[in-house]
Amino acid sequence: MARQGGTVLPLAQAQCCPDDLCLQQELTSLFECPICFDYVLPPILQCQAGHLVCKQCRQQLSLCPTCRGSLTPNIRNLAMEKVASAVLFPCKYATTGCSLTLHHTEKPKHEAICEYRPYSCPCPGTSCDWEGSLEAVMSHLMHAHKSITTLQGEDIIFLATDINLPGAVDWVMMQSCFGHHFMLVLKKQEKCEGHQQFFATVLLIGTRKQAENFQYRLELHGSCHRLTWEASPCSIHDGVHVAIRNSNCLIFDTATAHLFADNGNLGINVTISMCCP
Ligand SMILES: [Zn+2]
Ligand SMILES: [Zn+2]
Ligand SMILES: [Zn+2]
Ligand SMILES: [Zn+2]
Repeated sequence: MARQGGTVLPLAQAQCCPDDLCLQQELTSLFECPICFDYVLPPILQCQAGHLVCKQCRQQLSLCPTCRGSLTPNIRNLAMEKVASAVLFPCKYATTGCSLTLHHTEKPKHEAICEYRPYSCPCPGTSCDWEGSLEAVMSHLMHAHKSITTLQGEDIIFLATDINLPGAVDWVMMQSCFGHHFMLVLKKQEKCEGHQQFFATVLLIGTRKQAENFQYRLELHGSCHRLTWEASPCSIHDGVHVAIRNSNCLIFDTATAHLFADNGNLGINVTISMCCP
């Protein structure tokens, strides 16, 4: 018999029937913590009557919030853990627009980099715990961090004064050009013990995607030396600590800083440009 031609849809393209979706939602709702409405994920602990409460809330409770029964001893619910592994959970930022659903082991990794995660205050070294939308970042900086100066233009000098101050120190300023705001950061800290280093980088007050459109150049000038670094700015969604952790910044030690410093002040020429499409 001649073989018949035909198309077979791969499984992934098959439409998920609405009943399946309802079942998924019904299943994930079983994992909702009655206190914070986040999901109770493995390892799952229950009260003596079988009620669940999430790890964070459990740490602050002595009695089950549902039945007022004892939460000790720790009783694991292995059956619910197995169900949790078979269910896809919505991202924590579903309410702000993320439509991903993930296996519970993938959730924390994704949520740390989710585009819909609120932005935190980009100021390094402060204990500011502000969070909000990208649109609100600039007004937060202008109201809560008034001491940060802003220079206009693509080509400016970032002057860090008193670089010999002991301990960990941050120098921060803003640069505005191309209709965007950039945060310039010079950080003095010990990345390796006993070894002070300077880290200089530029962050865009914008998304990672927007940051890809720009380049920056940092340049130190001495009487007979020059040190140049060129890179793409990081988004403030990642922040300074990510740039430092990945060594995605200009790094130099105190001896190098002294080669370029003038009376304890270090001038860094900062040039920002747009990438050609
Ligand atoms: Zn909870
Ligand atoms: Zn209970
Ligand atoms: Zn997400
Ligand atoms: Zn702040």
